[in-house]
Amino acid sequence: MRVIVLGAGLLGVTSAYYLQQLGHDVTVVDRQATPAAETSFANGGQISVSHAEPWANPSAPLKVLQWLGKEDAPLLFRIRADMRQWLWGLQFLRECTPARTRHNIEQIVRLGTYSRSMLQALRREAGIAYDERTQGILHFYTTQKEFDSALKPAEQMRALGCERRVVSADEAVRIEPALVHIRPQLAGATYTAEDESGDANRFARQLVKACEAAGVGFLMSHTVTALREAGGEIEHVEATDIEGRFQRIKGDAYVLALGSLSPMVAAPLGIRLPIYPAKGYSVTMPVKDAGKAHQVSLTDDEFKLVFSRYTSTEDGRGDRLRVAGTAELNGYDRDLNRVRCEAIVRRVEQLFPGAGDATQAQFWTGLRPATPSNVPLIGRTRLPNFFLNTGHGTLGWTHACGSGKSIARIVSGLKPEVDFAFTTAGASAP
Ligand SMILES: Cc1cc2nc3c(=O)[nH]c(=O)nc-3n(C[C@H](O)[C@H](O)[C@H](O)COP(=O)(O)OP(=O)(O)OC[C@H]3O[C@@H](n4cnc5c(N)ncnc54)[C@H](O)[C@@H]3O)c2cc1C
Repeated sequence: MRVIVLGAGLLGVTSAYYLQQLGHDVTVVDRQATPAAETSFANGGQISVSHAEPWANPSAPLKVLQWLGKEDAPLLFRIRADMRQWLWGLQFLRECTPARTRHNIEQIVRLGTYSRSMLQALRREAGIAYDERTQGILHFYTTQKEFDSALKPAEQMRALGCERRVVSADEAVRIEPALVHIRPQLAGATYTAEDESGDANRFARQLVKACEAAGVGFLMSHTVTALREAGGEIEHVEATDIEGRFQRIKGDAYVLALGSLSPMVAAPLGIRLPIYPAKGYSVTMPVKDAGKAHQVSLTDDEFKLVFSRYTSTEDGRGDRLRVAGTAELNGYDRDLNRVRCEAIVRRVEQLFPGAGDATQAQFWTGLRPATPSNVPLIGRTRLPNFFLNTGHGTLGWTHACGSGKSIARIVSGLKPEVDFAFTTAGASAP
């Protein structure tokens, strides 16, 4: 079959790889000149099956209210006259019940565990290197209350096969000695030895090379303007190139992987996707003193930040710290907010004084394609040749390989290998 993949972010590129492996003739279309140039550009780098507790959980409504109007809040709703934001907010509230939270954690852990093993297999098969680290993820807590409330979700994750072990503050410092400066503030931690980290953008670019070598086409600098339906299925895609020239792109099947822009393209077909952009920040800075910088990938619960370390010298880059997080629901604006950038740099200095060179910090924002449940939309739609692989929110890198392989199997009429709430022809949200 000729399959058109819309979007060359992590989800589009992994879909293309697995579709090609199943024997399809694949073309990827993207508006940017290079792949993974939007949300998949500078994320937190964690492959974190253990980061499975969705934003929507029983304690979220109160926290979100307390954070309203706080410029440096970890999750900030900026209320707008935007019907899509309000609808998303209402659906978010519905996902905060204990039963929905349990259901969503289950989906996220199942897909995450499968995806992590698909990533491990892929890097062996394709020989891809991307600053991967397999030292696990340490999630640390600086308030007793948050640590206590993490114990139950961690137990649920263990029951689902994700070995998220509860560790004492002393053990946390043994696992990551660079945490010694904040030892007095540490309430405890959880450690998931099987979790990993790596440079997601480098991964995507390497995978594109492997795909191209296998015959996948990449039609870059082409903006998708519409999907046209005829005879109860997608007949073609309309796109314009960088000079405004109009093109029709025809395939037998189409996979939608346009990240937070996916709803715009699906809506005219009557397919409403509950995806809203959640702006996140990242800071990348050179390591100044390697002995003071962390080695293990970390999650700072209080500030909702994740930490990775990249050491490759590719493109002249050296040892770097990547720190990412926070979420702002404020439409499609990607502006850098100084207060938020400075709050991240301050926290890095507080945790690892002298480790990074903040004077050379590079700031970035990206729009997570967030669903109210944090569960991505993967599977069928009411149109038999139109498929979804989008809405991966906070965990698009963790879930990329598992989602890509699953959608490739669904497009091919094969059963996915993971038990997950895939979308079906009649519904769009799990
Ligand atoms: C600050 C931050 C930290 C994060 N940290 C982590 C982490 O540690 N671990 C993790 O698992 N996940 C993390 N994520 C989430 C992860 O990065 C995203 O879920 C993932 O990148 C989404 O990939 P995507 O392919 O769906 O979207 P994108 O990467 O945005 O790809 C969509 C593509 O579609 C293209 N496009 C859009 N509209 C059109 C159009 N009309 N025509 C043509 N092309 C179009 C874009 O150019 C883009 O290339 C983080 C995200 C952020 C913002």
